[in-house]
Amino acid sequence: MTECEKDDWLKDANFRKLYSDKGRLIFQDDIVWHRMNAMVNLWRIRSVLPPKLQNLLLRACHDQFGHQRRNRTFYLIKFRGYWPGMRATVENYVGQCERYQKAVTVGKIIKEQIFDKFGAPERLLSDQGKNLLSSLIKQLCNGYGVDKARTSAYHPQGNGCCEIFNRTLHGLLVTLDDIARKKWQEHVSEVVAQYNSTPPATTGYSPFHLLFGREAKLPRDPIVINGQEETPDEWVSELSERNANDHLGVSEKGGK
Ligand SMILES: [Zn+2]
Repeated sequence: MTECEKDDWLKDANFRKLYSDKGRLIFQDDIVWHRMNAMVNLWRIRSVLPPKLQNLLLRACHDQFGHQRRNRTFYLIKFRGYWPGMRATVENYVGQCERYQKAVTVGKIIKEQIFDKFGAPERLLSDQGKNLLSSLIKQLCNGYGVDKARTSAYHPQGNGCCEIFNRTLHGLLVTLDDIARKKWQEHVSEVVAQYNSTPPATTGYSPFHLLFGREAKLPRDPIVINGQEETPDEWVSELSERNANDHLGVSEKGGK
């Protein structure tokens, strides 16, 4: 490295500080090295990386090495290169990657568990957001021609149904015993199944019945019910009649 290039490096306040810091920067040919105090009395040398190589190292040590958490990723990187403020860069990079992965997971669940199983809805209501998840869901909705409505930032109560259901869900989770409540995340689907099997006061029909035209079969049903099972034909012919009546009933009750 020429004296001139070295001067360029030292225009950067971060490097200037490093340079004056007990000779931690070593200039050798084209490479700038940084001396790191890895452990007591153990010094390691790592090269100072320009932004392009920083990204390469981040991808290699995080994306291509098991998407490990912040501290583990930082540990891998710190022995392989150096740049001022690298701890913050790593935290930022891993944080962004985690948010992206979470958004992809939510998008996948919406597609696989709802759109693929029940068909895409006319409209999908979500809360206000300009974040990554929001834009990913928007893309998904565009692909299926789903109208993506948003609750207004000024009127979050526009998401009333969801807010009410969240309160109900919270109420149901509170009834879990002490051990189950500590792992409430693992019990959400069974609690939702309980909710779906019983009618709220507003409709008089269980959500399960409204969707499938029959009541849900519960774990103890084979023991407590002695009746004959319906044949598929009987069920299909009854279904259309039930659906017509139920939805009529719901709109009458809901309109009150
Ligand atoms: Zn990651």
